[in-house]
Amino acid sequence: MPVDAWPELLRWYDVHARDLPWRAKPGETPDPYRVWLSEVMLQQTTVAAVRSYFARFTERWPTVDALAEADEGEVMAAWAGLGYYARARNLVACARAVAEEHDGIFPDTEEGLRALPGIGAYTAAAIATIAFGRRAVVVDANVERVVTRLFAIETPLAAARPEIRARTDTITPDDRAGDFAQAMMDLGATICTPRNPACAICPLSDICTARRRGDPEAFPVKAPRAARPHRHGDAYWVEYRGQVLLVRRPAKGLLGGMLALPTGQWTEAPPPLSGAPIDARWEEGGAIEHGFTHFTLALTLRCAEVRDAPVDGIWWPADRIAEAGLPTLFAKLAARGLAWREQRWKGAA
Ligand code: SF4
Repeated sequence: MPVDAWPELLRWYDVHARDLPWRAKPGETPDPYRVWLSEVMLQQTTVAAVRSYFARFTERWPTVDALAEADEGEVMAAWAGLGYYARARNLVACARAVAEEHDGIFPDTEEGLRALPGIGAYTAAAIATIAFGRRAVVVDANVERVVTRLFAIETPLAAARPEIRARTDTITPDDRAGDFAQAMMDLGATICTPRNPACAICPLSDICTARRRGDPEAFPVKAPRAARPHRHGDAYWVEYRGQVLLVRRPAKGLLGGMLALPTGQWTEAPPPLSGAPIDARWEEGGAIEHGFTHFTLALTLRCAEVRDAPVDGIWWPADRIAEAGLPTLFAKLAARGLAWREQRWKGAA
């Protein structure tokens, strides 16, 4: 049983730790604000995708107090493209709670961190250990893969999670717990990869059960995946004097609080034109497919230019739609809308 995993692993980490912009350099004290921000951004997202967002956020809002004072709409717009938008709303709520209730200083325990908006068990453990050096059991997708291989855990995900956590607990040291957590993440990201793990240069190879058995890629065992349901709907590109109608989506629910094009209902069967915000002669402007966690969505874009006083809404200059901070789904549709617009101009020329 690999209870002594950590000395080898930490020796490896001291040499091979990834250079990440939110990480403290050796000898520096970690900044809890940067650790927290990166951990929230990294949920469900890759390091590569997060780098530029992290740089922009920390340049614009360099401290938790600065973020606490930010306009929520501006933060949502800056977050656009990172997905899972409830995180951006919680980001502002959490910054305000830290600024107002904790004098701008993050609590340094898992319990204290969990009491803040948007900080769940994983994030609290990660911040407590990385920013404050507390011993905590941190299991992200990379750690999950490493641990299921080290112990050859045969139970499929997600049922295996309690066992993975318990096993990780057995190998988490009291000292340098933050480095240990980051070392496990780095090992999963760079050596113990989903395909072709580099077992020959792995600091844990001597104690890894899956390597000994010769089948590391069999772990983690995955449960058969249920097919994602498919939904359909319409979205609308309404143009009036060079401006496009946008709406702010309800705060709760999918893409909550984000600016978007108006849409109709999303249903299992393609609906007849539904949810049009205005009476108009609609032209089809193309269709897009988008995958959410629990379903895939096919949206048809309906386009029209109107001449009369239009409905209330947010009218955004069409040629500056890229600056609206639309989430990816609507940014894709807006690209179709711009293409439709260009075709019309060409037709009219
Ligand atoms: S020996 Fe191979 S399978 Fe085991 S932890 Fe290292 S890279 Fe992963």
